Amino acid sequence: MSQFSFAGNPAKTVEIAWTRPVWSKLSSGYKDLDAAKSRMKDARKLYIKSFGCQMNVYDSRRMADTLAPEGYAETEAADDADLIILNTCHIREKAAEKVYSELGRMRRLKAAAGAAGRRVTIAVAGCVAQAEGEEIVRRAPAVDLVFGPQSYHRLPDLLARAARDGKAVDTEFPPDDKFDHLAAPTSAAIRARGVAAFVTVQEGCDKFCTFCVVPYTRGAEVSRPVGKIVAEIERLADAGVREITLIGQNVNAYHGAGPDGRPRSLAALLERVSRIGGIERLRYTTSHPRDMDDALIAAHRELPKLMPQLHLPVQSGSDRILAAMNRRHTRADYLDIVARLRAVRPDLALTSDFIVGFPGESEGDFADTLSLVREVGFSGAFSFKYSPRPGTPGAALQEQIDEEIKSERLQRLQAEIDRGQAAFNGSCLGRTFDVLFEKTGRHAGQLVGRSPYLQPVQVTAPAALLGRIASVTITEAASNSLFGALAGAGEPALAGAGA
Ligand code: SAM
Ligand code: SF4
Repeated sequence: MSQFSFAGNPAKTVEIAWTRPVWSKLSSGYKDLDAAKSRMKDARKLYIKSFGCQMNVYDSRRMADTLAPEGYAETEAADDADLIILNTCHIREKAAEKVYSELGRMRRLKAAAGAAGRRVTIAVAGCVAQAEGEEIVRRAPAVDLVFGPQSYHRLPDLLARAARDGKAVDTEFPPDDKFDHLAAPTSAAIRARGVAAFVTVQEGCDKFCTFCVVPYTRGAEVSRPVGKIVAEIERLADAGVREITLIGQNVNAYHGAGPDGRPRSLAALLERVSRIGGIERLRYTTSHPRDMDDALIAAHRELPKLMPQLHLPVQSGSDRILAAMNRRHTRADYLDIVARLRAVRPDLALTSDFIVGFPGESEGDFADTLSLVREVGFSGAFSFKYSPRPGTPGAALQEQIDEEIKSERLQRLQAEIDRGQAAFNGSCLGRTFDVLFEKTGRHAGQLVGRSPYLQPVQVTAPAALLGRIASVTITEAASNSLFGALAGAGEPALAGAGA
C-alpha cells in the first residue's frame, strides 16, 4: 500500500495498492512516460525522526527542504515512507542506544514494505552517524546510508550513490559550507512550522569539555556570515515568523563575517537581526559562560526585542569538578556573570544544565552544586547523570561514580531545581505580560503561547490571536506551565502579524 499526492494539490492524497509490475503496466499506458515518472517521483514520502537538541530539529527541517525539490513530501507515518532518516544524538549513551532500538523497528517496516514490492531506504544522519560510521551498517545491515552533520547538502547525491552501490557512508568534514547548498524552505513549509523559528548561526565547538563528544562529532567552531543569516530570517519574517532563536552548540562564541568581511560578535548579530521588520522577539542558545562578554550582557539592556531569558549551562557548583571538566570558569565567575546580567536586566529568567556523578565527584562537590542552584534561583534546568562517552578524556578517568549514587544525586538535584521552578512560576501570579500565541490548546477555545520567560501559557482566546502577541494576566501557576486571561477584559493589546 502506498500513498500518492495529486500533483498541484498535496493536501489531497489517496491510498492505492500497487506492485512494480502493476506500475510498469500502468505507466506503459501513458503517452508521456516522463510525466508518469515525474508523478512517481512526486509520490515519494519522507519520514524524518529527530533525536536530541534543537540543532538536530533545525537540521532535519533543512534536510526536508533540500529533498522537497527532489519530489519528497514529509509524512508523519514511518510505515508510509519511501525514505526514513533518523537524525541522531550521541551526547549520552542512552540517546545513542535509542537509535539502535529504533533501527530494529525500521528494519521490520522495510521488510514488510519489501514483501509488498516497495523499496524503502533507511538513512542514519547526525552525531551517532558521525561517531560510528561503518559500524552502524555492520550492526544494522538494513541501513542503506550513513552520513554526518556536515554532509546534509549532499543528500540527493548520497541517495543516488546508495541506490547505485547498495550502501553509502559519508562522515567527511567537507571544505564547502553546507549552508551554501541547503535549499531554503518554501513559504508554505515555514507557515506550517509555526511563528517561532530556530536559525543555526554557529556550529561545532573548540572548548573540549572533558565529558563532551560535540567537538568530535560536530567539529571545530564555524560561524555563518551575518548577511546569510539576515537573508534567512527576512524570508522567515515574510512568511509570518515572529520569534527567532539563534542557535549554536556554543552560540555566544559566534564570530561570523560582517558585510566588510570583519568578524561580528553575537551581540552585533542580535542588534542587526532586531532591525528586521516583523521579528518581534529574539532569543539565543546555548551559551558558554566564558563567552558572555560585556557587549552581550549589555544587549540584554539595550535590545527591547531580546527576551529576558537565558540558558547558561554551568554543569557543577564545585570548582574542583569544573576544573576536571575543563569548563575554564569557576563558580565565582559564573555567579559574577549572573550578577552582571541581573544588574542590566533584573527580571532575567535563567536556566541551566547540570551533570551529576562526573568522575571523582564527592558528596561535598555535589553539595556545592545544590547550593549553587539555591543561590542563583533558576527558573528551570536540565540535569543529567554523567555518561562516559568513548574517546572523551572523562571516560578514561579513574574514580567513575556508581550508578546508584548518580541516580540518588540526580533525584536530589531535580527536587531542588523543581522547587526553584515552582517559586519562579509562582512569582508570575497576578503579573501581566506579553504572550506570543503559537498553537491551539488541548481544550476547545484554548490557545498556547510563550511568556517572555519561555514558559508555556494557556489562555482561553480567539483563534484570530494565533501568531500574534497579546497581553495576558497570569491567574494560575502549575509546575511546568502558566494559565492566564487576556488582559483588558478581552480587549487585548495586539502586536505581531496583521495587528
Ligand atoms: N554547549 C553547551 C554548554 O557548554 O554547556 C552544551 C551542549 S550539550 C549538547 C547539552 C548538555 O548535555 C550539556 O550542557 C551537558 O549538561 C549535557 N552533557 C553533555 N555531555 C554529557 C555526558 N557525557 N553525560 C551527561 N550529560 C552530558
Ligand atoms: Fe560540549 Fe558545550 Fe563543552 Fe562544547 S562547550 S565541549 S558543546 S559542553
